[in-house]
Amino acid sequence: GNAMRLQAIRDVEAYVPPAVSFTDAETPGQIFGENVFSSVVMQKRLPKLVYKSVMATIEHGAMLDPLVADAVASAMKDWAMEKGASHYAHVFYPLTGLTAEKHDSFLEPVGDGTALAEFAGKTLVQGEPDASSFPNGGLRNTFEARGYTGWDVTSPAYVLENPNGNTLCIPTVFVSMTGEALDHKTPLLRSQQAMGEHAERILRLFGHVKPAKVVSFCGPEQEYFLVDRHFFLARPDLLNSGRTLFGAKPPKGQEFDDHYFGAIPERVLGFMMDTERELFKLGIPAKTRHNEVAPGQFEIAPMFERGNIAADHQQLLMTTFKTIAKKHGMECLFHEKPFQGVNGSGKHVNFSLGNNQLGSLLVPGDNPHDNAQFLVFCAAVIRAVHKYAGLLRVSVASATNDHRLGANEAPPAIISIFLGDQLADVFEQLAKGPATSSKDKGTMVIGVDTLPQLPTDPGDRNRTSPFAFTGNRFEFRAPGSMQTVSGPMVTINTIMAESLDYIATDLEAAVADGTDFDTAVQALLTQIITEHGAIVFNGDGYADSWPVEAEKRGLANLRTTLDALPELITESALELFEKYRVFNHREMHSRYEIGLEQYALTIGVEARLTLEIGSTQILPASLRHQTEVAINVGAVKAAGGDADIAALLEVSTPIARLRTALAALKDALDAETGHSAVANTALAEAEHARDALLPAMTAVRAAADVLEGIVADDLWPLPTYQEMLFIL
Ligand code: ADP
Ligand code: MG
Repeated sequence: GNAMRLQAIRDVEAYVPPAVSFTDAETPGQIFGENVFSSVVMQKRLPKLVYKSVMATIEHGAMLDPLVADAVASAMKDWAMEKGASHYAHVFYPLTGLTAEKHDSFLEPVGDGTALAEFAGKTLVQGEPDASSFPNGGLRNTFEARGYTGWDVTSPAYVLENPNGNTLCIPTVFVSMTGEALDHKTPLLRSQQAMGEHAERILRLFGHVKPAKVVSFCGPEQEYFLVDRHFFLARPDLLNSGRTLFGAKPPKGQEFDDHYFGAIPERVLGFMMDTERELFKLGIPAKTRHNEVAPGQFEIAPMFERGNIAADHQQLLMTTFKTIAKKHGMECLFHEKPFQGVNGSGKHVNFSLGNNQLGSLLVPGDNPHDNAQFLVFCAAVIRAVHKYAGLLRVSVASATNDHRLGANEAPPAIISIFLGDQLADVFEQLAKGPATSSKDKGTMVIGVDTLPQLPTDPGDRNRTSPFAFTGNRFEFRAPGSMQTVSGPMVTINTIMAESLDYIATDLEAAVADGTDFDTAVQALLTQIITEHGAIVFNGDGYADSWPVEAEKRGLANLRTTLDALPELITESALELFEKYRVFNHREMHSRYEIGLEQYALTIGVEARLTLEIGSTQILPASLRHQTEVAINVGAVKAAGGDADIAALLEVSTPIARLRTALAALKDALDAETGHSAVANTALAEAEHARDALLPAMTAVRAAADVLEGIVADDLWPLPTYQEMLFIL
């Protein structure tokens, strides 16, 4: 109750954060990657042939030869034990969005009662965790609860330090007995493969005889909040649901704008240095850090890496942040909207494709030929985003991100592309097609004209666009701060595979027909921008006119998760993912089911918490206050004074509203359990969550937030927004 809140405030004031500094032996350059079983380590520790075989496997994404696996496992075990590891863990990424680990000891008992440190190739390559506690959307037969984890050779193993013992961590895929994906990594690897294959076809058309493998790159920008842990622990809603279910807006909010890029508080800086040291050791290239828009909000952006590695690193980053924040007496909040009325948190996914040989294929060249290639890859993005906007939307759909998307701070739920003035102008010229040899008509001629200078890092970037070209990449801004980047990356890779396939097929046919290549490219670009130009929008995504305009253009506005989820099971989506072997129909349906389940689950937890906190903390505190007021009114009256009945009414009215709202919420929660085992139970429960629980919670909160402004401060049980956001 209130005692806890007041104690929290005293504890926060008395708190002394741990000191942090890099010692001389620990300069960032020296510790970078020190806990990673990297290719450099492998080269040192593996026989030459084994090393070569592993590197080839990584390059081609093939299966690891069992003999090679044994040699790698043995070297890996020795290395890890030298680093103090006693256990190893297969790390996987189930569809809860969290990271899961199954730990085993290196020690294996042998016949004579002693134990031997063993780590065989097959233990490295495959594990068998119990899959029954992870969502599977109907993929797992009840009699076969096992799931399989398999080492993703392209993602290096690492040692995770812990005061209670270090662990060798092996990034793995997680599949059912029948090989169907139960995780985020499996489809990421599959989609990566598909995208690369078709990108290489395009490169060959542009004269790259033997292009190196094309991969997708991802640079995730992570926003998060830090709150003092004393406050966090006094907020059961934050603790159990990641967001505050109550809380009046602070009198001083982000309208003051002094936080953004302001000086980082000393305590937070200590936390950042500490996290960076850990990230460096794990080979995670942490780069920029700064305050974000809201008070208590910050951002970290590691350097971009191969999509698959970036995704693993991103998960590891989140776990590391959580752990280190605790060490500094703070809690790190990744929820998309921990505080209502305060800026939310996103995770911008910066996407490009390319390879070491050619760099990013989304960078304009300095001659007409390279420009044509650049424009083709851009056109592929435009076509993909237009054709599959619904899939991009659903890739970021969650109950938690619903609080953020479409609010006036995050990109709208309508998917569109921002190209910037110069590039938009180029495509406008192309739309005028057909090619003429003169620029008089303002038409760009492929193979002849060069591009205007495109700003590489335009300062006036449109922050309201969900999908923006930013000079050498596209930035997808709709993903939520809590999500794994895998979901969006799988979608981007797959829709890009389809677009690149389409373009390659068209151009290959033209070339076979003897059409001049530049002419064919020109015609194709004109066709694509004509058919798909509606997705390009350079205006203000927050403007009221945009949804109206978007509707005219035929762009979907899928406001909430439940509007978006059916996109997963449309004919066109099922066909797309099957064609590029990313998901079969069963896997797609399972993801749809899991999406519904997770949605209902999240809101169900919040609703129960709202009921509990409302009934056991806020109502009692309000009643105490009401009693005090009533006693006061009585006393004043008895003394012959002018009793203020209005003051009593002021508190009694919202109390009555709170009681009514709590009763209604309880009814809605009771109704939830009443479903029979009808066909679409998951859908029914999700709809119930949206239509009954959410509004009932809102009503409870509305009454409670009014009471927060009335009830005596020393009676109020929950740390306030003011306290949580401004005391760090
Ligand atoms: P901003 O906040 O201005 O968008 P940041 O520097 O915070 O920029 O983040 C940019 C992110 O984009 C970083 O993670 C960076 O590594 C990444 N990035 C830069 N170039 C590329 C690229 N070619 N492909 C993918 N990501 C990139
Ligand atoms: Mg950005």
